[in-house]
Amino acid sequence: MSVEIITIGNELLSGSTIDTNAPCIAASVIEIGLSISRMSSVGDAPEDIINALKSILPGTKYIIVTGGLGPTDDDRTATAAASAFGKTVELNQEALAAIEKRFAGYAAKMPFPNQRQAMLPSGVKIIPNPRGTASGFIIEDAGREFMFMPGVPAEVEAMTESFIIPRLKEQSGFKQVILSRTMRVFGLWESAIQERLDGQIQEGPGLSLAYLPHFPEVRLKITGMGADPEKVRQEIERAAAIIQEKVGEYIYSVNDEPLELVAGQLLKMKKATVAIAESCTGGLISHRLTNISGSSDYMQMGVVVYSNRAKVELLKIPQAVLDEHGAVSEPCARLMAKNVRELAGSTYGLAVTGIAGPTGGSAEKPVGTVFIGVASAEAESVTQHRFYGGREQIKLMSSHMALNNLRKLILQQ
Ligand code: ATP
Ligand code: MG
Repeated sequence: MSVEIITIGNELLSGSTIDTNAPCIAASVIEIGLSISRMSSVGDAPEDIINALKSILPGTKYIIVTGGLGPTDDDRTATAAASAFGKTVELNQEALAAIEKRFAGYAAKMPFPNQRQAMLPSGVKIIPNPRGTASGFIIEDAGREFMFMPGVPAEVEAMTESFIIPRLKEQSGFKQVILSRTMRVFGLWESAIQERLDGQIQEGPGLSLAYLPHFPEVRLKITGMGADPEKVRQEIERAAAIIQEKVGEYIYSVNDEPLELVAGQLLKMKKATVAIAESCTGGLISHRLTNISGSSDYMQMGVVVYSNRAKVELLKIPQAVLDEHGAVSEPCARLMAKNVRELAGSTYGLAVTGIAGPTGGSAEKPVGTVFIGVASAEAESVTQHRFYGGREQIKLMSSHMALNNLRKLILQQ
């Protein structure tokens, strides 16, 4: 059985927004054994939407449509769908109740245009939207089902998972189970991982391994499919064990957890605390660590010592060290980690100083030169790096490396 996906929006045609809805929906649809017959995008003009809805490929039973269900004047999908299938537009009580319920949670009164989101073609079945005000809806026509959702990617994802996929699964009689496991790898690029694994994982219809580069790391997603859940689980475990054996030292999570969570959990487990002194990362490491709920258990202090003066006055880095070696140097990173730890009275100190570019580099210290210091009561150590990419990539990479160095130090002790 095949599925067609139509995404609606002028912004998709002008190139200002890249269509992420269609690939996201397609990936979920394929996982339940259905195929995609076509993906297309059209603009907001009603005649274009009507035309797209009326020219579905023969043999396609399900059509999934996203975009243009919002409350503003450029949202015309509901009226276009009504004309395409000879229906009138009417106030849908179920959709209205959903909007009102959502607004009841806010102090603000429902702005009038939001009621427009309840003006839907007559006789539709509602698709609940767990993340927004616009309900989706289903129109049946000539043996086909047209499923309409809003355009916002987070809403599309939630509605696809909670409603569209279960419905397609039920209607197509799909009985297999699909399980997956994602491992996060840092410090080895895709090609190097592939080289190490070198065809040792037997992929087939029941098992697949996807390399998902996600700067500055790579995620390895093992997906298993079959009739017997226990067997599928075992197949996944077998593949995971091979990956562990070949690239285990670079894996920091076997359960798709972010690095800041893994580092935080280790700190918590050891009842340890951390203080951070950041220069070129400008607070990014502190931001990432504090994105984790409960981080107040271990996050003691984070300071951004961007200028030399801040390094001297706040962290007591001797002016002589800066004069002799510069702020981007091994001795400075070492002292930053040591002194911030002492200042905060924490178990660990973590520090980053570097040149994020694109200006400020020199022959001796090119853009991307970064020093990362870690300190504990016993010792301090510094790693020196040369990262590549734009300013934000260098900052992100530096924060990742710093969190990973901290993680490794905690594991050692
Ligand atoms: P809204 O209530 O936000 O108006 P809507 O159903 O009208 O919802 P759109 O106006 O089409 O949806 O899009 C809302 C947001 O989602 C916009 O920022 C748009 O760029 C984005 N968006 C829409 N369609 C897609 C898509 N196919 N891929 C990625 N982003 C999309
Ligand atoms: Mg809109």
